Amino acid sequence: MAQKKSNWIRRTVCLLPVYVLMLAGYLYYEKKVGERIRYEDMIAMTNKCIRVGDWKCAEYYVRELLKSEPNDTNLQMHMAGILFEQERYQECISYIESLNFKHKDLDYLVEKSNALEQELKNLGVEKSMHFRLEFDGGPSKKDVMEALAVLEVAYDSISNLFDFLPENKMCLVLYQDKEFQGVGPRPDWVGAVFDGKLRVPVNMMAYREIYRPVLFHELTHAFVRAMTHAHVPCWMNEGIAQVVDGSHNNKERPAGAKPSIESLRKSFVKETNTEKATKLYWYSRRMVEELLKRDGGGLEAFRNFAKCLQDLSELKMDGALQKYYGITAKDLLESI
Ligand SMILES: [Zn+2]
Repeated sequence: MAQKKSNWIRRTVCLLPVYVLMLAGYLYYEKKVGERIRYEDMIAMTNKCIRVGDWKCAEYYVRELLKSEPNDTNLQMHMAGILFEQERYQECISYIESLNFKHKDLDYLVEKSNALEQELKNLGVEKSMHFRLEFDGGPSKKDVMEALAVLEVAYDSISNLFDFLPENKMCLVLYQDKEFQGVGPRPDWVGAVFDGKLRVPVNMMAYREIYRPVLFHELTHAFVRAMTHAHVPCWMNEGIAQVVDGSHNNKERPAGAKPSIESLRKSFVKETNTEKATKLYWYSRRMVEELLKRDGGGLEAFRNFAKCLQDLSELKMDGALQKYYGITAKDLLESI
């Protein structure tokens, strides 16, 4: 018995280095896997932040990623773009000059940074509080100042409505399209759009009454994007934008069956069938109106809706609706 025991001890002692090596190998493997997962998580986060224009968040993750991959040219290009998007033009140029490779996209950023600074200087326009300005078509100082004044007021009212102050500046492209100038008594072309950048024709002041709802509508989309990293269901986004822009809500219910929740959830902005599109917009607005009504329709109702939007990334559509309104999207649609 004693013999057996000492054999066992001897064998164990002999194999000890093997066990230690196996354990070290395992721990090393775990660490590498852990780092890989963390690295991939950070890339996913970076992409998410870039998608919604949250440049501060994107900068944080790209800087973290650069710590483990300091020579990754793709990350470096992203870093330059992120500085540019934050209006840090001089920093962007210096950063690009510090890199040891060339790329046409980097040349473009340097060129554009210089041009934007020069344009602001030539116009004698200060940097705006809430917008990163870009110009298209050489607008005059007067046009720029007037457009900015209107936009800043709209920004303040929407910010107050949702009780939300975006962390990042919104990119505003003030354009002057010569083709459309002076056509008819009022423009019948689509004026402002929000496609990640807010694009506003600079001569809109001539048509202030027409542009007011358009600006509020598009600016609401910009706020919705700034409020959450989630993919916002289209009906919530278009619904709230129509409520804020004061679209006439006395239009008759569109004929035919109700649209499905699925068709209301996915993007219908590019729907080419007018009848279908009208129906989707109508139901979106009614659904959001119904939610606001449940909270009394006042300022608090808008703020509650904003909180619901902000919880979308964590709770998803029905989870957030249940939390704030005790209803699912399907039941909400049924109630319209
Ligand atoms: Zn819209």
